[in-house]
Parts: sequence; C-alpha cells; structure tokens
Amino acid sequence: MKLVLATHNAHKVQEVGAILGAAVAGLELVGYDGPEPKEDGTSFLENALIKARAAFAHTGMPSIADDSGIAVEILGGAPGIFSARWAGGRDNVQNRQLLLSQLDDVRDEDRAASFVCTIALVTADGEVSFTGIWPGRVARQETGANGFGYDPVFIPEGFEVSAAELEPEVKNALSHRSLALQQLASYLNQI
Ligand code: IMP
Repeated sequence: MKLVLATHNAHKVQEVGAILGAAVAGLELVGYDGPEPKEDGTSFLENALIKARAAFAHTGMPSIADDSGIAVEILGGAPGIFSARWAGGRDNVQNRQLLLSQLDDVRDEDRAASFVCTIALVTADGEVSFTGIWPGRVARQETGANGFGYDPVFIPEGFEVSAAELEPEVKNALSHRSLALQQLASYLNQI
C-alpha cells in the first residue's frame, strides 16, 4: 500500500515512514510536493484534515497528515494549534520563554499540560483520525538537549526530567506522535 504524507519535510517522511513501515507490512510512505493549503482550522483535527484532504485531492492516493502541539490546562489548552508560532515567529527558544513567563507564578500542581498529536487519513472511502496524548506538566526552567520544540520545558508524567533529557528511543516509545501512529498502524493493518 502506498500512502502520501502531507508534508514537504523530508525528515518527517523518513521518520514517520520508519515507524509505520515497521508496523505495517508492505507500506510505502511518500512525500507530497503539491500546493500547501492554508492551515486555518480551529483544532488539531481540522488542521490535520485540511492538509490530508489537500494531498488526497492533488494525488488521488490515500493521504495522511498530522497536526500537533502542547496544550496547557491553566491556559485553557493554549498554545494548542498555535504552538509553533506562540511567540509570533517560528523560534522555539522564544516560544518556550514566553510559555515559562506566562506560568511564572503558577504552582507545580497547576502546571498540567499534554502534548497532543492528531493524524488524519483521507482515502476514497472516507476520513478517519487518530489522536495521541502524552500527559505531563510544564517545568519551571529549560533542561536537556535532545528533542525539539517544547521538549526542554515538558516533564512527562512518571518522570522528573524533561522530554529533552530522555533518550530518543524512550521519547519515541511514549510520545503523542508515536501513540497516534500506533493507532493508525493498527487501523491500516485491519483494512
Ligand atoms: P506542527 O509541525 O504544525 O504539528 O507544529 C507542532 C509544534 O508543536 C512544533 O513546532 C512544536 O513547537 C510543538 N510540538 C509538537 N510536537 C512536539 C514534541 O514532540 N516536542 C516538542 N514540541 C512539540
């Protein structure tokens, strides 16, 4: 089965392809070089669907897309779909600093947050989606050098270190993205 991943990011194609390829026999994941739609949805699901629908419309092949971010409880779920541009640009350091400053006087027990990843699959037969949630809390300061984005300020449930201090294999086994991909893989194995 050939599946289009609606991203222009070759690294993402390789990473997702490796995870899905190991879980779904005979699966080939290819990138997408068609027009990029405007991501103006109001939820992870809407944005994932917008991207997957665009890839399906352009290629006519089964297409997947993901949308992800960090949702902080006391901020009502923000940054959420605005995670990548929380401080205005695409600068991860500024995004993290802004988030930490917004929670400056918030106690440890009120710093609950989750990483969320929704994957949409669009085929000629219809649309389905899968969501992975990785619960934890926002740290008081940055630690660790692995990972990307908000990893240095996210302490996963059951740990006292940040996601950026975990070995990549550990993060990849637990993360929101891997949980969503596992659900997609079992779906693909059933159809
Ligand atoms: P996307 O690429 O549009 O899904 O944007 C997701 C944004 O959410 C990224 O730019 C990061 O800021 C944040 N994010 C998503 N997943 C992770 C993760 O695993 N670690 C850290 N930050 C993440």
